[in-house]
Amino acid sequence: MIISKNPYTNTTLKEYHAHTQEQVEQCIIQANQRFEIWKGTPLKERAALVNQLADLLFQKKQTYAELMAQEMGKPVTQGRAEIEKCIWLCDFYTKNGASFLADELIETEASESFISYDPLGVILAVMPWNFPFWQVMRFAVPTLMAGNTALLKHASNVTGCAMAIEALFKDAGFPEHTFTTVLANHDQVEYILAHDFVKGVSVTGSGTAGKAIAAIAGKHLKTSVMELGGNNACIVWEDADLDKYMDTMVNARMQNTGQSCIAAKRFIIVDSLYDKFVQRFKKRVSQLRSGDPMDEATEIGVLAREDLADTLADQVTNSVHKGAAVTMGNAHEKAYYEPTVLEEVLPGMPAFDEELFGPVAAMIKAKDREDSIVLASNSSFGLGSMLFTKDIKAAKRVIGNIPDGAFFINEMVKSDPRLPFGGTKMSGYGRELSKEGIHEFVNKKTVYINS
Ligand code: NAP
Repeated sequence: MIISKNPYTNTTLKEYHAHTQEQVEQCIIQANQRFEIWKGTPLKERAALVNQLADLLFQKKQTYAELMAQEMGKPVTQGRAEIEKCIWLCDFYTKNGASFLADELIETEASESFISYDPLGVILAVMPWNFPFWQVMRFAVPTLMAGNTALLKHASNVTGCAMAIEALFKDAGFPEHTFTTVLANHDQVEYILAHDFVKGVSVTGSGTAGKAIAAIAGKHLKTSVMELGGNNACIVWEDADLDKYMDTMVNARMQNTGQSCIAAKRFIIVDSLYDKFVQRFKKRVSQLRSGDPMDEATEIGVLAREDLADTLADQVTNSVHKGAAVTMGNAHEKAYYEPTVLEEVLPGMPAFDEELFGPVAAMIKAKDREDSIVLASNSSFGLGSMLFTKDIKAAKRVIGNIPDGAFFINEMVKSDPRLPFGGTKMSGYGRELSKEGIHEFVNKKTVYINS
């Protein structure tokens, strides 16, 4: 039985029967049968369906936002913003998908030579709960647009969202079995990925899940994309414009109640600005309204599950044992975690080395600009870094020293359908979104013709 629970009220929302092995097998076979037809569907038709997805998302925005609020504690206003972003994604691929997939001519001595982007088959997605619609849509829309079919194994605590997304594709007019939610457990993930009909996997989740599934993909030689955790640095130089960007920096840590892979998890501040920065950061954080995720005024909801708050509390406690100081917040009860500021954070502490998945900001003092870059790249993760400064020339000079998938100057790291998204090191590999994303699950076939 899969149980979906409201983390704010601690009540059970619904219970779902997990799929049996026979049902899982059936889902794979049907997805493959559909693939054989879907791969020949004209791109224009696929784009029209993606456009219909956008219309339906628009119509059901409030329903989906409420579903997320109930299943994983996301403030309802942030749920609506998530659905708006999914609409933007659909619009982007409706307009650009076909051109990204068009044959790409390459001049050689042949009469004609080009790259043909052919779909692969059934692709499995293993997805997390933190952005239950966005993470799935950003995988599914380009993957289906490219002519593949998809199986989704969503995080078990957002099974209601998983069912709603399956219905969304169906209601938008996608043929049956183009997109299927499979209520599978971890062992069944291996069964699905090992199956001959399944050609690849996209994982968004923790490093633990990523390593386990990447190993299975490797064993069966299936292509994979891994979007894993992060502990992004937010570097603040002495000339940063705090009046203009303080809200951005607070949002970079606190949005989605701190449960974002690309959140600013380590604030690395040049010594001369440190005190002023921390004081203003705390003042802004103290104004954030915690409360019922269903309430329009709520900015900080609850963590998606109680055990996540326990893990976060342990990481804070262990950091304090190693010398860090809690200078704001840290009250927690059940799934609620108060916005917290942790100072005197150093390498070797969980708050520096690990991913803190909740509303806890780690403050780190850097001697100078150079030291700030060294500290920022001192991480086993590599999802992204952000730098706040008025000195754009100097900021551009350090681009090469940031070994991450993204570097944002005077902006928080964020995903955007027009730009590639993905990490390095323990944050995974492969790219989603943009032209790069739609090319992850295709056969880039070389065609060479002498006539
Ligand atoms: P998680 O515990 O790793 O779960 C993610 C998904 O993987 C769930 O569907 C989970 O299923 C499944 N899973 C976990 N272990 C598995 C295994 N051994 N075999 C097969 N499936 C397995 O992560 P989460 O707590 O849902 O999400 C938070 C993490 O995701 C954070 O680390 C965050 O940084 C990362 N994330 C990364 C990105 C990115 O784009 N890089 C975006 C969002 C989130 P069950 O629910 O059934 O356990």
